[in-house]
Amino acid sequence: MPHGTTSLSAGWLADGGFRIGEMCGLHLADLHRREGAACRDCRAPHVHICHRETNANRARAKTKCPWSVENGVVTGGLIKRVSPHMIHTYFEYMTSEYPQHPGHGMLLVQLHGPERGQPWATVGARRMLGRASLRAGLGKVKPHAFRHEFASAVLDASGSNLLVARDAGGWASTSTVDEIYAHVDIHDPAFDAALRKVWGERA
Ligand SMILES: [Zn+2]
Repeated sequence: MPHGTTSLSAGWLADGGFRIGEMCGLHLADLHRREGAACRDCRAPHVHICHRETNANRARAKTKCPWSVENGVVTGGLIKRVSPHMIHTYFEYMTSEYPQHPGHGMLLVQLHGPERGQPWATVGARRMLGRASLRAGLGKVKPHAFRHEFASAVLDASGSNLLVARDAGGWASTSTVDEIYAHVDIHDPAFDAALRKVWGERA
């Protein structure tokens, strides 16, 4: 995979299992990359998936959990954990490639061409990821494939715990990341261990 926005987003899709609209809709303020963030929603590093109708690239999160900004800190939305690798690629991207003061505050931007610095639209993201996976000899990988792979890896890694929870909770048989996040306490040690195992295997 090449560097830049494509590499960042491939890593984030693989480790976070985001929808492409969620990922392209992320603002820098939605990422709480340190332990014990001021929002108090989650001790571990995480992002807040916030539904916004007004993003310049028109990317929108599908889930509409209420969220707000209090004293400059994003709280609420749908909380999803982020891996050490995601934080690492974020730093590389921010320090070497992210434009200075783009104004819009969005995470994923175009790094080349006349629209340089503008938020990355989902259609462009899909196209770039498709091209990158073809070049890497993986065939044409769709963003959705990352979600499914992530969801099943987390369930596999959790041993019986989350599977039991899934059966008891009557989740759909094809598990998606949203279902896992909707049904599992993100502070659950079994969930935490499963995430770390999945991320460790990928690292
Ligand atoms: Zn937070």
